[in-house]
Parts: sequence; structure tokens; C-alpha cells
Amino acid sequence: MKKILVTGGAGYIGSHTVLALHKKGYDVAIVDNLSTSCKGSVAALEKLTGKCIPFYETDIRNEEEMTDILKREHPDAVIHFAAFSLVGESVSNPLKYYENNLYGTEKLLKAMLTAGTDKIVFSSTAAVYGEPKHIPIVETDKTEPTNPYGETKLAMEKMFRWTANAGNLSYVSLRYFNACGADASGLIGEAHNPETHLIPCILRVANGQEQFVRIFGTDYPTADGTCVRDYIHVTDLADAHVLAVEYLLGGGKSDIFNLGNGQGFSVRQIVETVRAVTHHPIPQQIAPRRAGDPAVLVASSQKAREVLGWNPQLFRPQDIVASAWKWHQTHPNGYKNEP
Ligand code: UDP
Repeated sequence: MKKILVTGGAGYIGSHTVLALHKKGYDVAIVDNLSTSCKGSVAALEKLTGKCIPFYETDIRNEEEMTDILKREHPDAVIHFAAFSLVGESVSNPLKYYENNLYGTEKLLKAMLTAGTDKIVFSSTAAVYGEPKHIPIVETDKTEPTNPYGETKLAMEKMFRWTANAGNLSYVSLRYFNACGADASGLIGEAHNPETHLIPCILRVANGQEQFVRIFGTDYPTADGTCVRDYIHVTDLADAHVLAVEYLLGGGKSDIFNLGNGQGFSVRQIVETVRAVTHHPIPQQIAPRRAGDPAVLVASSQKAREVLGWNPQLFRPQDIVASAWKWHQTHPNGYKNEP
């Protein structure tokens, strides 16, 4: 049985990917420093899989410990999620992002090379493109990040490319658009503190945890004046990671893929969808634009479909919101009240 080591496996996309790997028959071990996640997700995964999942509460910057773990677990590949991912925070505290995302990844790569693990699938982001020149965005488009988060992810991609070039590694970089939704079980889901993402922020209103949702900007050059994003279900994202691992294990060459649905929805459309799904009026307030938000971000994922055979299934906004609602209703405070 093949084994995959997942860094950041206790986090939102990481936990869904651990579940997807399990469903495809992989053994999994998790490394997570629990800085933005908690062990409740691992407990939920163990409940869902009926398996004891090896868990290391370790920081990827600890090269010695990472080398030991890699030698002990001897994975066939690594999937690397452990990183900070808040655009606003990266603007106010850029060095935190360089330290964890870039330096942390360098340490992880060194540990992998020492331990003889030479395949890695890595979370990148649409933020590497910055303000797009045309829609949909393709992988060969210019990368000009407008914030340190996107900048560190792009630098990580380049570090992988040069390391692969030197013949030491093969990698797949997955550039996500807007991850959202939750596993159909309702046992794992998005749990950030503070929450900044649109769908969970609206669902907090439906849950009675907030009075209203703020709409950041209504003067964008879009049909209804609000930002348009490509919302991609976390279960579909998780499946793409499994396909990327299979691609590398099958001898595929290092490459970069966008992951989105290819269809954009505005902030107002998402608010309307949440109203329809939750039957809550969702009061709203119009707020100024949020710094660094491009008007429209929509992916072309043609390449992932053709090369990886990826076929996202949960693309209807009502399905995405309904799955997230199931999770948020039963876990209004994330994993807080769980073991
Ligand atoms: N947004 C909003 N109100 C919120 C949170 C987000 O209007 O409370 C908008 C945000 O400005 C962006 C879109 O929703 O246009 C998606 O934001 P999110 O933070 O979910 O993801 P991002 O696009 O930043 O990755």
C-alpha cells in the first residue's frame, strides 16, 4: 500500500485530502503544528475512516525532526499544505509569511532530499497571478502577485522548479481558486479564527453569530458591481490532489495546474444563494473595497482536466453552500467543543 505524508493535514483542505486519500486506499501520516488548526479534525478523520492516523505535532521548519519523520514513515510522496494563507495578514506581516511559507518549505525540501522522498504535491494559489489580464486565467499567464502571500507561494513554486531542474525532485503545484464547501458527512469543514472567507462569513449570519455580512465593494466593473470569484468545492480540490499524486507516482513530469470550475459568481450571487439555502434573510452592509481584491478571478482548468483527468462534480453554488451549511450548523465554533 502506498503511503502519503500530508503536511498541514489537520487544516481545512488538508483534512479533506486525507479523507480522499483514505478513500482511494492510501496510507496517510499527518504533520501539523496546529498553529491555525486543531486536533479535532484528526479525531473526526479517525471517526470517518475508522483508522488510527499517525499524527506528528511538528513544525516543518524543524528540519531534523522532519527528516526523522520522513525516514520513519518512508512515504511515497508528500502533499504540502502547511502554510499561512491570509492575504490581509500577509500585507501587514510579510516576514511571517516568508518565514513559514518560504523558509519552512526550504527546510521541508531539505529533509525530503536527506530522507530520499522525491515527489511532492503542493498548494499554490490564484494569488500568484495578481490582477489578471484576461479571463479565464491559464497557467501560462503572467504571474505578478499583489501581496506577500501570493509572492511567497510563487517563490515556493520557483524553489520547486529549480530543485526539480537539478534532478532531485518531481513536483505538482496546484493553483487553487476559491476553496469552499465541506465534506458530505458534515464532520469536517472550514474552521478559521478569525474567519475572513465569504461563505463562512455569511453562514455566521445565518447561524446568528453575526448581525450582517459586509459586502466589500459594489463599484467593481462586473455585472452587479461586486467581485466575481471561481468557487471550487474542497472535495473536488481534494480529489485533484489524489490525482496529482497518482500522476507523479506514474512518472508524470513536474508541472503546474489551475484548479477552479471555470465559472464565476459574484458576492451578491453568493449572498442570494445562502439566503435560498438557509431561508435566513441575511442582512447586509455595503463596505469599501478590500485592499488587493481583483474584480474577477476565474480559472481555466482545462489542463488539469486533460492531464490529470480531473472532473469536478460539486460546481453548483447551492450544493457548495448546502454542504458548508451542514458543517457550520453543527459546528458553529469549528472543532472547539470536540476532543
Ligand atoms: N468578501 C466580502 N465580504 C466578506 C468576505 C469576503 O464581500 O465578509 C468578498 C471579498 O472581497 C472577495 C470575495 O468575497 O471579493 C471572496 O473573498 P474570500 O476572502 O472568500 O476569498 P479570496 O477571493 O480573498 O481568496
